[in-house]
Amino acid sequence: MEVKLLRVTEEGVELVAAAAKASDSELTLSATEIVEMIVDNDYSSALEHIYFTFDIEGISVALSRELLEHRIASHTARSTRYNEEQGFGFYIPEGLKGDAEAIYREAMKSANDAYTRLRKLGIAREHARYVLPMALHTHYILTMNVRSLINFFMLRLCVRASPEMRELALRLYKLCVREYPTVFSKIWCRGYTLGVCPENMVRPPNCPFRGIIPAKRVLKRDFEEEARRVIERELTKEPQ
Ligand SMILES: Cc1cc2nc3c(=O)[nH]c(=O)nc-3n(C[C@H](O)[C@H](O)[C@H](O)COP(=O)(O)OP(=O)(O)OC[C@H]3O[C@@H](n4cnc5c(N)ncnc54)[C@H](O)[C@@H]3O)c2cc1C
Repeated sequence: MEVKLLRVTEEGVELVAAAAKASDSELTLSATEIVEMIVDNDYSSALEHIYFTFDIEGISVALSRELLEHRIASHTARSTRYNEEQGFGFYIPEGLKGDAEAIYREAMKSANDAYTRLRKLGIAREHARYVLPMALHTHYILTMNVRSLINFFMLRLCVRASPEMRELALRLYKLCVREYPTVFSKIWCRGYTLGVCPENMVRPPNCPFRGIIPAKRVLKRDFEEEARRVIERELTKEPQ
């Protein structure tokens, strides 16, 4: 996979600070301090003024489907209706070795053969493409604002994300943190960013934050009963 930064909003820190000052004209902090405060307190709507556009080459169609689940973004993918896919490139999952790799490659060859034969029979790309595999390499242009990118990284830098997605998230993150360290150096998976992991019991053994960042369920145990009592009291109050 190859990931390039195509565009990023310039002077984004100043832009976000200007937006924050439109909201609170008495803000006396510097632009950097304002952005730090926004990230720290999760006043994230002002971060929507900064946009990133990425050129993503050589990811699988399976991954492109997962990317599309991120609705607060703009997506453009290579069309299998308008492009020829004979001799296509494909994703190979890490860890496929020996017989497993041979079976996998054979399946790709068989799909390529079927596609090529259909095309030679004059079958249109829009029909022939249905024999193409999920591993098929695609080209993707992705635009996201910083608020949505933060949400993306919180979900997709988690070790529970699929390996191909996590690799993409890591590459995107490196580009983002280089451009706007004030924002992104405070961001990683949900556990790190929030200081508590909402994954609870499904946290896998390979989570590098196990034993460092508490699970939500464990943390809530300490205050849940008392907090519930507060909620019950709130519920019995008459609206003012
Ligand atoms: C480990 C992992 C496993 C997953 N497994 C599956 C799976 O098995 N099946 C599957 O379908 N998906 C799966 N997903 C995808 C997941 O359910 C989300 O669709 C995806 O992560 C996009 O997240 P999002 O909705 O927060 O992002 P976006 O779509 O970009 O939305 C950003 C935020 O906007 C708000 N928002 C957006 N749309 C709405 C709306 N309609 N109503 C209310 N608020 C909205 C929410 O606050 C949301 O967090 C998985 C994701 C992860 C990380």
